[in-house]
Amino acid sequence: MSNDSQTASIIAAQPAISPLRTRSSVLAIVAVSILFTLVYNFAFFRNTLDQYPLNGDNAPFLLSLVVLLASVTALVFALILTKLTLKPVLMLIFPLAAGASYFMNNYNIVIDSVMIQNVLATDSRETTDLFSVELLAYIALLGVLPAVLIYKLNLRCHPFRIELVQRMKFVGALLVLIVANVVLMGGSYASFVREHKVLRYYANPLSFMYSAGRYVDEQLAGAASGPREVIGSDARIPASDHTRELLIMVVGEAARADHFSLNGYERETNPQLAKQDVVSYSNVYSCATSTALSLPCMFSQNGSEDFDVAEAKRQENLLDVLQHAGVNVLWRDNNSDSKGVAAGTEFQDFRSAEVNPVCDVECRDVGMLSGLEDYIASKPNGDIVIVLHQMGNHGPAYFKRYPQEYEVFTPVCETNQLEACSQQEIVNAYDNAVLYTDHFLASVIEFLKPYDDEFSTAMFYMADHGESLGEHGIYLHGLPYMIAPDSQKHVASVMWFGESFAQINKEGLRAREGAPFSHDNYFNTVLGMLEVESTVYDSSKDILQESSGLAGVAVR
Ligand SMILES: [Zn+2]
Repeated sequence: MSNDSQTASIIAAQPAISPLRTRSSVLAIVAVSILFTLVYNFAFFRNTLDQYPLNGDNAPFLLSLVVLLASVTALVFALILTKLTLKPVLMLIFPLAAGASYFMNNYNIVIDSVMIQNVLATDSRETTDLFSVELLAYIALLGVLPAVLIYKLNLRCHPFRIELVQRMKFVGALLVLIVANVVLMGGSYASFVREHKVLRYYANPLSFMYSAGRYVDEQLAGAASGPREVIGSDARIPASDHTRELLIMVVGEAARADHFSLNGYERETNPQLAKQDVVSYSNVYSCATSTALSLPCMFSQNGSEDFDVAEAKRQENLLDVLQHAGVNVLWRDNNSDSKGVAAGTEFQDFRSAEVNPVCDVECRDVGMLSGLEDYIASKPNGDIVIVLHQMGNHGPAYFKRYPQEYEVFTPVCETNQLEACSQQEIVNAYDNAVLYTDHFLASVIEFLKPYDDEFSTAMFYMADHGESLGEHGIYLHGLPYMIAPDSQKHVASVMWFGESFAQINKEGLRAREGAPFSHDNYFNTVLGMLEVESTVYDSSKDILQESSGLAGVAVR
């Protein structure tokens, strides 16, 4: 072996020698974050520029967005990359980011947890359909090449304490940078997050890292669930109950108690219900401020205190207890879905024109009543409970939530970009949607009336949460319960009973219209209405019991 080749092999064995010198982990994180932001986010910036064209007005925001994306990427890496994970994680993320970049650039797809599920479920024939020279070039240049470089680089973390202090300083600096950007461009970011929600799915690699985490989380939750815990298996209808009950439970969407004229709102938003013999509870509070939490909470036997949605989903709910007692239960949905509540219940999706006969710009809640007489006729025995999950006042496009003839309060906000409208225009559109819910609830009552000979009929309406309409600059709902304004928690609730509902003392109910109730009362009130006997029934939480409300049901 010659001297020359000996020298060469010594150099090759010492990768620490320049140009691949030792680099600190923080420097590496800064470098890869800038690299990801500038090279792997073509789709993110292309879609952003569609919404925010590059001009004098948008330039500061776009510049801020570049800095913010790099800072957030660096922040995530600074928090997850340790001495042990630094190299392997980066070597894994580069090829994945390269693939994600290719598909987002070429197909404009986004990679959410459903997409990850789809990719993992794809068979080899489908995969080959997607392969191209360009994809291989992406993987090679943007995936394998950086991964090899990372492998070769002598990236080093300091001893634990020094590294920790350095990381804390770094994270602190990033947080300052992030907060400064958000504060300086607050208005632009508010609309970016609210109206262009989809854009953030293009952030590479943050978006697929988040989606992968969600996917794993969903799989673990699914694997852990198994069959749900049975509750109320002893439920039964006593032999003394000779009449069949027919109850329609309407689950409302984003309906505020203080926008119902039945509760004293100065605008007449309940003209049709006002003509019906209804009881309107004006002091009802929701369990949560979003559909995804409120629905499982309403139907759960567990109270709102320390409510845990995962735990609730592992357990049977009100609808299952009713079925243990032999009640026929049907869920019709014109919203999103039942959020897991109808897991053990017959479910019908009413959001398409194939099923719902009343659709214009969207399918209307009233359409959920169609064909219901056939369902009732098909159940010759036992009580019947039908849940109708409304589209109701789903925001921000309130102006789409009602047919033209319900546009009574004008002018209305005709965009989902709420900050472009005056608060009055937003309230007008919202109140028109309440008018339409008023019509829907009155239609439910009219539907029930002919059944009064055959059944004890009743309607029980309760909204899932409230809504902010621009008060103090807050819109929509979903704020954490502790800090959410009253408007997001104070919900509308209305009951109606047919003449044959013998056990009801309507005067007694009216006396408690203003009593403090909450979603905590829902479970037991429905069991009480159906006269279900079970160890899970707690009469002290049943709104129909004389002692309820006056006894001070806990309201958070
Ligand atoms: Zn909702």
